Amino acid sequence: MPNEAMKKLQPFFEKKERLGHLLGLLSFDVETTAPEKTIEAENDLLSFYGAEYAAINKDPEFIALVKQAKEQGNLNDAETLLIDDLLFDISVMEKIPMEKYIEWSKAESKCEEMWKKAKAAADWGIVEPYFKKVVEIYREKSELYRLPFHKTPYDSFLSLYEKGQTEEDVNLIFEPLKRFLVGNLDKVLEKQSHWAPEKILPHSQDDQARLSIDLLKAIQYDLSRGVLRETEHPFSNNIARDDCRVTTHYYENDWRSSMFSVIHEGGHSIQFQNWPDYQFENHVDGRASAALCETHSRFYENIIGRSHCFAPTLLKLCQKDLGGEFLDMDEETFYRFINRVKRSLIRTDSDEYTYCLHIILRYELERDLINAKLEVEDLPKAWNQKYEEFLGVVPPNDSLGVMQDTHWFGGAFGYFPSYALGNLYGAQILHYMKKDLPFDELLAKGDLTPILTWLREKDFAYDYLDPKEWILKVTGESMNPEYFMEYLSEKYL
Ligand SMILES: [Zn+2]
Repeated sequence: MPNEAMKKLQPFFEKKERLGHLLGLLSFDVETTAPEKTIEAENDLLSFYGAEYAAINKDPEFIALVKQAKEQGNLNDAETLLIDDLLFDISVMEKIPMEKYIEWSKAESKCEEMWKKAKAAADWGIVEPYFKKVVEIYREKSELYRLPFHKTPYDSFLSLYEKGQTEEDVNLIFEPLKRFLVGNLDKVLEKQSHWAPEKILPHSQDDQARLSIDLLKAIQYDLSRGVLRETEHPFSNNIARDDCRVTTHYYENDWRSSMFSVIHEGGHSIQFQNWPDYQFENHVDGRASAALCETHSRFYENIIGRSHCFAPTLLKLCQKDLGGEFLDMDEETFYRFINRVKRSLIRTDSDEYTYCLHIILRYELERDLINAKLEVEDLPKAWNQKYEEFLGVVPPNDSLGVMQDTHWFGGAFGYFPSYALGNLYGAQILHYMKKDLPFDELLAKGDLTPILTWLREKDFAYDYLDPKEWILKVTGESMNPEYFMEYLSEKYL
């Protein structure tokens, strides 16, 4: 018997898609192009249509149809996942009284506002009481998001971003990785100690903008279905099926920043631009988990973009668009510019090797905060201790320490692990891709077409699945942190 409820749900899904498209265009405009004096009006449009969008999920007819669709059965695998996601959202929504919801949202935006002030003044005391409130809310919220397989309050948030993952799973992945990274950091630095000190020369924004377009073309971002704009904090946005946009930020004094933002955000969009029809037809486009999205952005940024084999291609583009010192630079010098490992304080400036340490540290702290094993007033001290222990550096103040990222202060707990998991998935995929393709040779030729075809057929096609199922489908094996450690050993040791 066909699922009648599913059929009746289609107009609701289509309305959501149209509104999502519109909201995407508006928010992209606000972040990049909108003239100063229209921003308020556009923000007003965003909240008006945002409310329309949210109203669909609360519509009693929609809710009843979702429940009927589950009962009537006969759903394909994508429909099953979609309906289960909606049922979960509905069950959470039904548990939160409206006044609570408003109170919580207010507390989170107030805390974020105070974080900005506290960070500017390098004064933790300004944000502490507001952050305490947010952490209390999240400890309370964890009950609402609890699923039968969860064992700790933190699991509730982890599985919002990585469906099916628990802190037990993540501990098993992060513990050996942490030991490896901390244990080998001295050796890695020692190996690079004979590298000449780096001298980065300035390049104009116009030259860097030309380079950005050439970089996007080199990695096969489809410019007929996307654009590049400038913004404060680079991001990408899959606005619609044929509209995946990227942004960057130009620093005249360091061309590397924009180069790797462009490749990273381009990598995200390449995934979005290559989803198969099946995902759109079943409304599961965009269901890919956060770690899964980070897998592909980092695959392009690091595994391809920071490799020895692809360095000649990048150097040639720099020679063409930036000229200057690149004209007589050799490939090895260029490679060193983009792969230097440092004991750094700031996550977003960190190198490929130490990046995961910045993440594991945040993971351990947020896990303990939500599980009430760490209190807010002890957080800055715990942060500094871990930086000393993991990276051998201590922040001179809390703005360069515990207050550097916005995530926690806006109420995003459970998201950080995704950044590191993406690196691990990427290395595992590389291992299996190399069985099918002459990966290094292709990079050396600058020919990424077979790599994209492989990703499209073997990986993107399944990325609407939960992460555990997806990695099994792509590589035939569960997440195995050994591949990433092997990759790092080969490259840095
Ligand atoms: Zn990203």
